[in-house]
Amino acid sequence: MTSSALVWLRRDLRCYDQSALYQALRRFERVYCAFIFDTDILDVLPNREDRRVEFIHASVLELHEALQAMALRSGAPGGGVMVRTGSAASCIVELAQKLGVQEVLTNRDYEPQAVERDRRVAQDLRSLGIAFTDYKDHVLLDRDEVLTQQGSPYSVFTPYKRAWLQKLDAFQLKPYPVERYARHLAELPRGERLPTLEDLGFSRTNLKDLRIPLGMKGAQQLLQDFLPRMRAYDVDRDFPGRKGVSYLSVHLRFGTVSIRQLAALAQERALQGDPGAQTWLSELAWRDFYFMILHYHPHVVTQSFRPAYDLVAWDDAPELWQAWCNAQTGYPLVDAAMRQLHQTGYMHNRLRMVVGSFLTKDLGIDWRRGERHFAEHLNDYDLSANNGGWQWAASTGCDAQPWFRIFNPVTQSQRFDPDGRFIRRYVPELAKVPDKHIHFPAGMKPAELQACGVHLGKTYPAPIVDHARARQRTLMRFHFLSADAKPATDAE
Ligand SMILES: Cc1cc2nc3c(=O)[nH]c(=O)nc-3n(C[C@H](O)[C@H](O)[C@H](O)COP(=O)(O)OP(=O)(O)OC[C@H]3O[C@@H](n4cnc5c(N)ncnc54)[C@H](O)[C@@H]3O)c2cc1C
Repeated sequence: MTSSALVWLRRDLRCYDQSALYQALRRFERVYCAFIFDTDILDVLPNREDRRVEFIHASVLELHEALQAMALRSGAPGGGVMVRTGSAASCIVELAQKLGVQEVLTNRDYEPQAVERDRRVAQDLRSLGIAFTDYKDHVLLDRDEVLTQQGSPYSVFTPYKRAWLQKLDAFQLKPYPVERYARHLAELPRGERLPTLEDLGFSRTNLKDLRIPLGMKGAQQLLQDFLPRMRAYDVDRDFPGRKGVSYLSVHLRFGTVSIRQLAALAQERALQGDPGAQTWLSELAWRDFYFMILHYHPHVVTQSFRPAYDLVAWDDAPELWQAWCNAQTGYPLVDAAMRQLHQTGYMHNRLRMVVGSFLTKDLGIDWRRGERHFAEHLNDYDLSANNGGWQWAASTGCDAQPWFRIFNPVTQSQRFDPDGRFIRRYVPELAKVPDKHIHFPAGMKPAELQACGVHLGKTYPAPIVDHARARQRTLMRFHFLSADAKPATDAE
């Protein structure tokens, strides 16, 4: 009997250096690939225009064609992606049964809901005599590969990174040679067709206008663009008005790029002492770190990493919340950042920290509400990094910003957008305000405001809170935690 397997594609939409696909092609003679548009996820999306759905749709289409081309090159009879729409957990079991495969292979997911779904799928498949295996693919080092000498997980980033860098050797970064066994790609059953975006109940977004490069090709295009800039990353990454970062996060989210490929390139340069590459590699370590935290501390999805911080009494403040969501806070950098998020689905990392701090420490609003807002709007939304980032900004997380360190939204703006280039791009009503005042137009005299065409409260809002007073309120709000203020330490 010919051995056959089904690769369940999820957040790994590529056909090079892909663990589960490689393992399936190496071990089985006939390999099918499937992607399920999971209605358990799609049905609860609040907007029928969702850049992520469009991104995934385009990437699956590209992958389908790439698998067909790979099959053709290696003399396999077919190749491609079988697409289904429905509850992923039941669709994948039905498909595996219908195809008569012996095993379903997939790449490991770390989100608690996905872990639970996979547990159920494995159980259902097992009852049908079908095996289920998952592989490390999304992270460089898995949850149990970087532990303290006592065998426990780290909760502080610096010692974690030290251990992570030591483990990140050539073996870990070796690409999986998928094409070597591509002759095992199975011909798709007759009548298979890929749904259109409209078939899925979604419409086109402004993704095309934003010229966000899609799929595997798009990721390589961004990578080629970033490589000559990587050297300056350690400095330029903090300035949202400069092209300093890679913009690869959405590709890492959906696996249209291999994390091993990126890390290998960065590590080679980092070992030669390139400070930009060293810093960029550290960011990839943060990514692994937060996946690991989510695995060992799944309570962080709804609760603070440190339980004592769940006693912080947040404000309801519906008007302040609306002003933050609508980019009408009167603090230009905060408003520019929120408009970037809504117009493009992306927000620069420095600004994620600034708006996160502003929501929790200036407006006194629970980090969970900000986290949910980002989840709705970010193209690169990833539960682990988003939760980690929010809990960092709110000071409730592991290795977070201490609660008494509070970003000043004006000085952050002066430091990281000194000439207001970023602000002017997203807050055009302040375009004529001189550099000196662009960070806080409320500080201008009435005649100066008039000369720039700004009417506070009409063309641009007056500040919704006074930062100095808000800061005092936050210190009071967190004060009962003073004994807990010291940063945590891990035994290495
Ligand atoms: C409040 C808040 C929310 C965030 N939400 C997300 C999210 O939902 N999804 C997400 O991918 N990142 C998130 N981040 C981390 C970071 O802001 C983004 O990864 C980064 O801005 C993406 O842009 P880039 O690809 O150009 O990054 P680069 O600066 O080029 O970094 C390269 C890659 O490293 C990883 N990375 C960088 N910084 C971090 C970090 N602090 N934590 C974890 N991984 C990191 C990302 O995968 C990123 O693509 C969040 C940060 C904060 C403070």
